[in-house]
Amino acid sequence: MYDYTAPANLLKDRIILVTGAGDGIGKAAAMSYAKHGATVILVGRGRKKLDAVYDEIEANGWPQPVIVSLNLADATAENFKELANMIGAEFGRLDGVLHNASTLGKRTPLASYDDETWQEVMHLNVTSPFMLTKALLPLLEEADNGSVVFTSSSVGRKGRAFWGAYAISKAATENMMETLADEQDGVTNIRVNCINPGATRTNMRMKAYPGEDPDKLATPEQITPLYLYLMGDDSIAMNGKSFDAQ
Ligand code: NAP
Repeated sequence: MYDYTAPANLLKDRIILVTGAGDGIGKAAAMSYAKHGATVILVGRGRKKLDAVYDEIEANGWPQPVIVSLNLADATAENFKELANMIGAEFGRLDGVLHNASTLGKRTPLASYDDETWQEVMHLNVTSPFMLTKALLPLLEEADNGSVVFTSSSVGRKGRAFWGAYAISKAATENMMETLADEQDGVTNIRVNCINPGATRTNMRMKAYPGEDPDKLATPEQITPLYLYLMGDDSIAMNGKSFDAQ
């Protein structure tokens, strides 16, 4: 696991938005941010799962989170503008965003990859994070040191047979991170980086590798040190880098 021990108050008074916060890695990251003092904006499509995360955060006595139900697979620029307006009115700034929600699509050769799934995967994994980032940049500029974290995958660094639109979307994600990071460098106080979680025990991993023994995989909670590092001030000098969580 990434070697970082976060101080208890690492994210005190920070406002951090997490997409796909209802389950898997996004849930674990959101919980760890709240535990370290952040007010977390929980974005996801499943109200029930988001409510459960909200209740767990409240039960622990951590800062009261905010729930935003939004299906990122068909969200529009107008939806993201409304979200940014809500955050601006409530908090006046945003300290961090974790782009975590993604979909796997189908594990088939590109030759037979269906167009509809391609569109879904590219919209959720690439277009939504682009539009959301664009809407949130003015709020991130209001923070002392804004942090944007994208989520990649090893198949985004080197394409692999049968990973289709997912692999291609993750390569685009790495490039989006680099492009945005380069644009911010020396211009704003925003840093932009990427996390490759590595094999982690979640629903998506089980869908990709149904025959695998989940007990042999890291849990989402075990990989949170890197997620904390990139949101806190210890990573202020990092920009344009792609990190491995394990
Ligand atoms: P997961 O368990 O499937 O969680 C994905 C999260 O995204 C869920 O909360 C899901 O909500 C949400 N989501 C999916 N479609 C959405 C939509 N249309 N609108 C809003 N939210 C949506 O997957 P995970 O393994 O935690 O993956 C998290 C990130 O890590 C992804 O970017 C993935 O590509 C990356 N990753 C994971 C692994 C791994 O081994 N697990 C490895 C490399 C990279 P629902 O629960 O409602 O579906």
